[in-house]
Amino acid sequence: MSSAPLVDGFDRVHDSLRISVTDRCNIRCFYCMPEEGGDYVSHNEILRYEEIERFVRVAAGLGVTKLRLTGGEPLVRRDLPDLIRMLAAVPGIREIALTTNGVLLEQHAAALYAAGLRRLNIHLDTLDRERFRKITRRDDLPRVLAGIEAAVAAGFERIKFNVVAVKNLIEPDIIPMARFCRERGFEPRFIEFMPLDSQELWGRGKVLTADEMIAMIEREIGPLVAVPDRDPRAPATDYAYADGGGRLGFIASVSKPFCLNCNRLRLTSDGKIRYCLFAIEETDVKALLRSGAGDAAIAAAIRRCVADKWIGHQINSTKFVPPPRPMYAIGG
Ligand code: SAM
Ligand code: SF4
Repeated sequence: MSSAPLVDGFDRVHDSLRISVTDRCNIRCFYCMPEEGGDYVSHNEILRYEEIERFVRVAAGLGVTKLRLTGGEPLVRRDLPDLIRMLAAVPGIREIALTTNGVLLEQHAAALYAAGLRRLNIHLDTLDRERFRKITRRDDLPRVLAGIEAAVAAGFERIKFNVVAVKNLIEPDIIPMARFCRERGFEPRFIEFMPLDSQELWGRGKVLTADEMIAMIEREIGPLVAVPDRDPRAPATDYAYADGGGRLGFIASVSKPFCLNCNRLRLTSDGKIRYCLFAIEETDVKALLRSGAGDAAIAAAIRRCVADKWIGHQINSTKFVPPPRPMYAIGG
């Protein structure tokens, strides 16, 4: 089996894998999930931890070094620290991160840290309980706040916060979230609203752009400077407060797509490889994992998926077609 790096048709080297461990979630952010129900995959269709580990071993042999666990809500999956331990032991894996809504973090933070997790992104749009309830259709802000404290107490540092920027909604939360992070030494990531919601609510006019948010923060808090040593392949454009008050990032997927530097692959909870959040096609790897296929066949499937990768999503083109699955079913 060749261990040559995973390079696509546009010379982009792929070393980062996002793994969705479940499509289920315990809250219902309106820009991601429907208010009721959800088209969940049945339990036996979800990859088992051993299957995820095998896939990661093969991917690591092809140069994947960074993993991010996501969902749905990854902490609703039982015994997640066990998976982290298994993945941390895979030769070649250098970094594991977790994206969570934080609702169950109070119970799990210490075990996650003990399992070796060090990088945490907590998704939180607002510090106002009523606004949180409106966005997520659940009254769980106190649990998220308790989860943040538990994560800090467990030892997590430089925690990042994901804030989804929906225009005409989130404006009152931008400055409080920026200040909260600045005061606590956290890093906010302001993410432009993307067309990945299950109810097709997205429209270009509903995107609060990175430039608009930067202008708000500079006006209300202070000047920002671009961080010179940032990784050009990371999705966020990083800034720092000019007065040394910490960092913050903007994910301008809509207003300034960063596809040309993309180094990411995704594995869905039901075992499909995707080369892009917005991809229309997927490569089935679960069938291989469950039919006794050898590592070489799995590696070939990964290479095929990377080889097929497009130059980038076309959100800004009239030809854009949203992916058939919403965010929670892909893994954000
Ligand atoms: N449940 C976890 C969470 O909320 O962080 C992990 C999965 S969630 C799909 C991953 C991230 O996707 C969230 O942190 C949120 O920032 C982002 N997200 C969800 N829907 C989005 C949308 N329509 N546009 C932009 N970002 C979105
Ligand atoms: Fe759940 Fe995360 Fe989607 Fe919100 S964004 S509904 S927390 S999966």
